[in-house]
Amino acid sequence: MISYYWGRFKFHLFESDNLIITWPNFDKGVLLCFFGALCQVSAIKWYLFSCYSKDNRVWINHDFFFIRISTVFATLIIFIALIALSYRYKRNAKFRKFVAYFSPMFFGAVMIYAGYTVGIYSPATIAGFVNIVLIGLVFYSRKIIYGMAVFASIFTLIISYLTFNEIIRYAPVFSDTLTHSEFYHNPFWIKSMAEVYLPILLVSILFFEILLSQWRRREMKIKKMSQTDALTNVFNRRYIGEQLSTLESKKKATYAVVLLDLDYFKKINDDYGHEVGDEVLQRVATILCTTTRIQDVVGRFGGEEFILILKDQNLQQAIEIAERCRKIIEQEEFVLETGETLKTSASFGVALAQENAKKEHTIRMADRALYLAKQRGRNQVRHYLELELNLNPAV
Ligand code: GH3
Ligand code: MG
Ligand code: MG
Repeated sequence: MISYYWGRFKFHLFESDNLIITWPNFDKGVLLCFFGALCQVSAIKWYLFSCYSKDNRVWINHDFFFIRISTVFATLIIFIALIALSYRYKRNAKFRKFVAYFSPMFFGAVMIYAGYTVGIYSPATIAGFVNIVLIGLVFYSRKIIYGMAVFASIFTLIISYLTFNEIIRYAPVFSDTLTHSEFYHNPFWIKSMAEVYLPILLVSILFFEILLSQWRRREMKIKKMSQTDALTNVFNRRYIGEQLSTLESKKKATYAVVLLDLDYFKKINDDYGHEVGDEVLQRVATILCTTTRIQDVVGRFGGEEFILILKDQNLQQAIEIAERCRKIIEQEEFVLETGETLKTSASFGVALAQENAKKEHTIRMADRALYLAKQRGRNQVRHYLELELNLNPAV
């Protein structure tokens, strides 16, 4: 049960394609309640175990301490109640809206109040405030965060005014013994600052870790989508162009380009339907991928035309690979849903990249060799050196 919920939690936060910043405001509100609850648990730990020990009692303002610990417990209960109610009423539009707006306001107010209790100008408060504003700017609309920042600044000014005029105490959690001493040298105060700030820092790191891991996954997915052909899952024409440009820029790269075009493919579409045509394209793509080496690039160049970029290959080797592909495609039997079988074939044109030749030139040569294969009866491999012989039959 726990592992089931932990799995779902992990999936939503770290593995989902839904970026946290594009979540609905309701979901963000619930997550904020989790963060808020975590901070309260950490505060309770601090108050009960650090402050209330025998040695530290002298540093604590007892009159305020009980008020403070009650507010922390009450806040924790409110966060937990909000999470539970969100689960119960997750489909109620009014409640969703309420959580979406109430959570950030409440979270902000709780944090500002907590900052006041340990000193509005204490390092923990200021660092915590900066962290929360940073997360807020990524997480929420700028309007909400700037609104809250203005509210927090006004609150800070009022507290400052009241403190300077000795109407209220500065850092009311701490006793006069502490606030009237050189508290920057007080180990309890220093430890307290660290303990107050630590949960906010951890929550910030957790938040950015979630965001970054989601971002990286999405980047990878978008990159893959921009490089692959949706139907056949081999590389698309854009990526093929990029690969050829990279090879072109390397002075000594030897590579061959193979263009292949299915024979009479239009007839397959006409006789069996477009879906069967699509399936044939997918199967041919698979054959090409499994027949070539890992360093070779297989791409869809057009409708029923594929391209192979064979790296570090001479003409003979490239022709052999093309011939191997041709044979497997020719032998493959496509079993249809009706039980009928379908066969197809492809024509191949091979060209070797010449030194300093432009990629367009190599492709043109392969295309012309392919055209020759079609002319000579299809289902065969022809290469660019034959073009000259073909143009000049006397040779
Ligand atoms: P040839 O042997 O001369 O190449 O004949 P062909 O019929 O294969 O050539 P043609 O260029 O006349 O026809 C190509 C057909 O490929 C036309 C088009 O409907 C089909 N086609 C292109 N893209 C797709 C696709 O994504 N799916 C399917 N099912 N068919 C496609
Ligand atoms: Mg064709
Ligand atoms: Mg074609």
